[in-house]
Amino acid sequence: MASQGIIAYFTMEIALKPAIPTYSGGLGVLAGDTVNSAADLSMPMVGVSLLHRKGYFYQRLDASGWQREEPVAWRVDDYLHEQVERVTVTIEDRPVQLRAWKFEVVGVGGHRVPVVLLDSDLPENSEWDRTLTDHLYGGDSHYRLCQEMVLGVGGVRMLRALGYGNVHRFHMNEGHASLLTLELLDERLQSSGRATITDEDIQAVREQCVFTTHTPVAAGHDRFPMDLVHRVVGHHGAFDLPEIFCCEGALNMTYLALNLSDYVNGVAKRHGEVSRQMFASYHIDSITNGVHAARWAATPFQRLFDRYVREWREDNFSLRYALSIPRHEIWAAHQRAKRALIQYVNRETNAGMDVDILTLGFARRAATYKRADLLFHDPERLKAIAANVGPLQVVYAGKAHPQDNAGKGLIQRIHQVRDTLRGAVSIAYLENYDMRLGKLLTTGCDVWLNTPQPPLEASGTSGMKAALNGVPSLSILDGWWVEGCIEGITGWSIGEHWQQATDVDNAKDAASLYDKLERAVLPIFYDRREQFIDIMRHAIALNGSFFNTQRMMQEYVLNAYFL
Ligand SMILES: *Cc1c(COP(=O)(O)O)cnc(C)c1O
Repeated sequence: MASQGIIAYFTMEIALKPAIPTYSGGLGVLAGDTVNSAADLSMPMVGVSLLHRKGYFYQRLDASGWQREEPVAWRVDDYLHEQVERVTVTIEDRPVQLRAWKFEVVGVGGHRVPVVLLDSDLPENSEWDRTLTDHLYGGDSHYRLCQEMVLGVGGVRMLRALGYGNVHRFHMNEGHASLLTLELLDERLQSSGRATITDEDIQAVREQCVFTTHTPVAAGHDRFPMDLVHRVVGHHGAFDLPEIFCCEGALNMTYLALNLSDYVNGVAKRHGEVSRQMFASYHIDSITNGVHAARWAATPFQRLFDRYVREWREDNFSLRYALSIPRHEIWAAHQRAKRALIQYVNRETNAGMDVDILTLGFARRAATYKRADLLFHDPERLKAIAANVGPLQVVYAGKAHPQDNAGKGLIQRIHQVRDTLRGAVSIAYLENYDMRLGKLLTTGCDVWLNTPQPPLEASGTSGMKAALNGVPSLSILDGWWVEGCIEGITGWSIGEHWQQATDVDNAKDAASLYDKLERAVLPIFYDRREQFIDIMRHAIALNGSFFNTQRMMQEYVLNAYFL
């Protein structure tokens, strides 16, 4: 395979298509959108991830709203092609054999980007090693570190075995992949016959590596105690070098990536600022995330764009012409997308939702900082708004991490509120949030609600999917919305100014949310429909045309890959 100038994109999760459960949420969806846009732009790229035979998990909610997890069942060989090459990684002094399965992403002009998914389920391996590529984010930190060996070290070895001798840049999508830097150092030692790492080695590896950090939340940055690292990884010369390897008796994957990358970025302008505060001695740029326009536009909007903005798939910027699409056409496409959602909600939950009622959507990981229950801070006020200003209904979805009981409690609390508000505001919580449901929700609601506790939302991409489909956001000013919100034009902010982490005040934010519903969202939706549709058009033309992975990839090419 030709590999001159290729970009190798390493990611622990990737959402290739709805039937392949190799992702958990935003990070994986972004990775999938990235490789799709790379293919559209005919970029030389290869993706590397793990097979995740059992996926993240299938979410069921019992009658009380408590989450139960089941492994996801899928047939690997229905979607992927096994490669003949095998490589070995040493984990805890044992050789672990790996094979690769290939998926090909085909761009709009026919260019192909292969994605290689590593698999340890081979008869040569021990029973336990065979499970290493089963569960995404499953198990304990020992399991996770072994998986990161497979991804980082195994990934580089597999690329070499597949003929990618000359990789121009290794892009680490989050710190999970940063053990690849150790393998790159080892390659230099082996080819030079030296035993110790020199400054030139470090510099040469740095010049090959790009690192994107994705979250200000501490739990999102992997740290492994050094005794575990010695046991799993063995001893590595890099461990003796403080300029690579810092930090209080632990291996911090974020610092390893920061220290061995020439270019580092956060995923929105605000997140770049927050990351520069977190990692003050590093130069950290920002490239704002996006979504893949053709993957996330609902069918009725795809048809509409095909008619009015013919080249939108090749040139996402041209979506600015959405301003000239007649209002009644925008509304008709939206109603079709909305009917699909409401029918699904009613079929799945028997909520009896009505297509003519303003529908708020909220779908994200059920982590407490996302504050899924902010809307219910004052249920009496919400009831009064629905009774006096205009009816509303709310559709929820989202998984809690299997070990996050607080997150599971949040899902349960929304079920309880649903029961107390019955008859006043209808609420549904859909099971098993995934790409397919993500698309149904972001295209079928009228307004997309987002209430994270600032500054913890690095970017957020579901609001971008909504915007592309003419669904304005009502959101806290954090992540991408700091850049995307033009008040009353592309949507609405909750809380006027971006807040410091210390100012978090649920009562104040909830009051602002109720004010916006009462004074802006509901009256415009029910009484000034033309104005509402203008906001929908602006969401597409101003935000859909910009917050896409095509623009994002062009920034990576200019600022990160080909410096
Ligand atoms: C888009 C998407 C996400 C990411 O959305 P956020 O706004 O970052 O929460 C997560 N999960 C699924 C299934 C998605 O489709």
